[in-house]
Amino acid sequence: MAVRKGGRARHRPQRSCVVCRRKQDKRSLTRIVKRSEGLLIDPGGKAEGRGAYLCQQSACWEGAANGTALARALSVKLGEADRRRLLLGKPET
Ligand SMILES: [Zn+2]
Repeated sequence: MAVRKGGRARHRPQRSCVVCRRKQDKRSLTRIVKRSEGLLIDPGGKAEGRGAYLCQQSACWEGAANGTALARALSVKLGEADRRRLLLGKPET
């Protein structure tokens, strides 16, 4: 975080989507949290646990459910229920 890149919106926290890697305002991303019982979609960003962010493209949610990016970011193995939860929670775009 010490690197200072010239840019707009430096005052707003930025996170990148774990699938497409695009940096965005944290508030426009949805946090996914690793819980002992499985993944939790945490729109408020307040749940405890290790979190990763997904953007509002449904393709990224599909990529998270079917690919390895999210699983790797959270170092979990996605179960059937996790995949289903992600596909149900994906934005309608
Ligand atoms: Zn994305």
